[in-house]
Amino acid sequence: MMPGMSMYFKSFASSSGGNCLALWTDRTAILIDCGLGSMKRTRQMLTAHNAAAPPVSAVLVSHLHSDHIGYYPLRVFEQLAVPVHVHAGSVEPLRQRHFNGYGFGELALEAYADSFSVGDLSVEPIAVSHSCPTFGFVIRCRAADRWIKAVIATDFNRPDDISGHLVDADFIFIESNHDLALLKQYYNPNSRYHMPNPKTAELLARARMQSKRAPAAVMLGHLSAQRNRPKIAIAEIENHFKQQALPLDFQLLAAPQKEASETVHISGEIA
Ligand SMILES: [Zn+2]
Ligand SMILES: [Zn+2]
Repeated sequence: MMPGMSMYFKSFASSSGGNCLALWTDRTAILIDCGLGSMKRTRQMLTAHNAAAPPVSAVLVSHLHSDHIGYYPLRVFEQLAVPVHVHAGSVEPLRQRHFNGYGFGELALEAYADSFSVGDLSVEPIAVSHSCPTFGFVIRCRAADRWIKAVIATDFNRPDDISGHLVDADFIFIESNHDLALLKQYYNPNSRYHMPNPKTAELLARARMQSKRAPAAVMLGHLSAQRNRPKIAIAEIENHFKQQALPLDFQLLAAPQKEASETVHISGEIA
């Protein structure tokens, strides 16, 4: 085993009720989205995060839906002087949508368009199709002899936007929003902007086929509370891999909707 840099990941919340993901190395930590509903919940999440990881250096916002960013988390990041990275085209809409008529004089809003760095992490935004301008992220850090690559993508409905980026990823956090039978039972027109379980299964199978090695782990996220269950989403992937005679040679997890997930250790070591 080669020693080297490691990356870690934890989901603090993942559903249409609120999203907050953390990714860190030994030196740098970032959050991807923070749609927690109060300053208190945001601070509690940060306290839990700080117990196990470096303090948060930046927040990346995937899109402006209130389950991904909102007034109360922004207020906390303003107080802590944590910069919030928003796509260039979303800076003004964010002010209009989430400032609630108040000033945010001290908030450091950073506009991204292309790749940028936060500490020892390099971030590549990937445009994906959703009901508003939305971005997934390819996040890399340099290990001893190669780059470790994590891909984070929820809230999208066109697998082709992201599929090429999943190849040879060390970690994948991907939306598996709804089961088709449960969608029929509890119809929601907005589900069409999200990934159904079978499409996520196909996407992951294609990525595994095209990859030279398996990821350390895949975590399914943004599961609908009413139209999905962790067991159903995981079984969909397992069955599809079996049908395709593909090895399920990685850890497969589903993010809890309201609680923190386990910490995933994305190793930079070559086994
Ligand atoms: Zn969402
Ligand atoms: Zn959304």
